[in-house]
Amino acid sequence: MAEPSTTTPCVVCGRVPTRAESIRRHVGMIVMQRFVKLKQPLCREHGIEVTNTYLRKTLIEGWWGFVSFFLNFFTVGNDLVVLFRYRALDEPQPLAGGAPAPAPTPAQAAPPTPTAAPGWHPDPSGRFEHRWHDGQNWTSNVATRGQQYDDPAPG
Ligand SMILES: [Zn+2]
Repeated sequence: MAEPSTTTPCVVCGRVPTRAESIRRHVGMIVMQRFVKLKQPLCREHGIEVTNTYLRKTLIEGWWGFVSFFLNFFTVGNDLVVLFRYRALDEPQPLAGGAPAPAPTPAQAAPPTPTAAPGWHPDPSGRFEHRWHDGQNWTSNVATRGQQYDDPAPG
């Protein structure tokens, strides 16, 4: 039986206190017994969560083999004890003295839209060869074959 730790953070959420209990999962099969064992520091919340998951999986998957029937009592019994121990842990807290949880990076401010240099560009309306863009907006200044015209700026 592991002692609760106030310095080893939960592998899931990084909070303390934690226990590193041997949560067992038994998958019984006719020809093979498969044990899955987890031993990681977990806080109360995640210890209960993981133990419950393992218990459920053992109860659902573990009854296949006749032999595993007996082993299941051991596995389920172990996990019920573990569950009890996790329930006895204190509410999870941020790890004292540890690095604070990294603050979410604020979304990068969108870079300012680069202002295009004013100039003649292919007329987006297609009516003329070129249209003068003043760097911010299309203008009514258009040109075809060197001849300038006035045409209402598109949209
Ligand atoms: Zn946790």
